[in-house]
Amino acid sequence: MKAHYRTTSSNGLRLRKSPHDGETLKVLPSHTLLTGMGEETWVKVSTADGQIGYVLKDFLEPVSGPFASAQNEIVCYTAKHQAIESDSPILINRDFLQSVEKMEELAAAHSINLTVTSSFRNPKVQLRNTVVVPSNMSNHHVGHALDVNFLYKGKLYGCSSFTDRCGPPSEVCRFIREVKKTVPSIRWGGDFTVPDYIHFDDGLNVTNPQQFLTKLHKYWLD
Ligand SMILES: [Zn+2]
Repeated sequence: MKAHYRTTSSNGLRLRKSPHDGETLKVLPSHTLLTGMGEETWVKVSTADGQIGYVLKDFLEPVSGPFASAQNEIVCYTAKHQAIESDSPILINRDFLQSVEKMEELAAAHSINLTVTSSFRNPKVQLRNTVVVPSNMSNHHVGHALDVNFLYKGKLYGCSSFTDRCGPPSEVCRFIREVKKTVPSIRWGGDFTVPDYIHFDDGLNVTNPQQFLTKLHKYWLD
């Protein structure tokens, strides 16, 4: 069985042509997924795009399950405008990256900081031998959704602020309106029949259920 790893060095990890002082092929960002090809102190690895080299084992952690099969389709989002943050890595699908980038850009323009509370996550249900109805399945399971709280002027606004009598600050509402207008693929959970005010996704399970299912199976079932 092949070993799969994720890099842990926050400053990047050098992928070298040969162990020790070999030429640097590239610097791998934190949370890059690698496939092990042989190991001692220096692990021979291949990257998702097929480059082969050596990395120092101290800055690797083993990964399994969806992260191994998703390879680099699930990526760790890094803030581009200092307007998005999370205690844990923000894991999203590469195909959802542009939407999140645009959302972050708009948040920055509205002086709002998005605090991510949930991104890519385990279906946690027994799916094998079950008929899956895509519209009932969350886009979180394929990395096409984010749950966020809104930090505005030092105060955090979550779900309850939307059901409050006074509602969230108007700037937060303006931001949500702008996201829906500027990123047409984005759906806001507040518009759902059962409102989910902190949820954003691109509706993949509805617009392309086939692709949704392919991804779901690839990451969690195969
Ligand atoms: Zn959600």
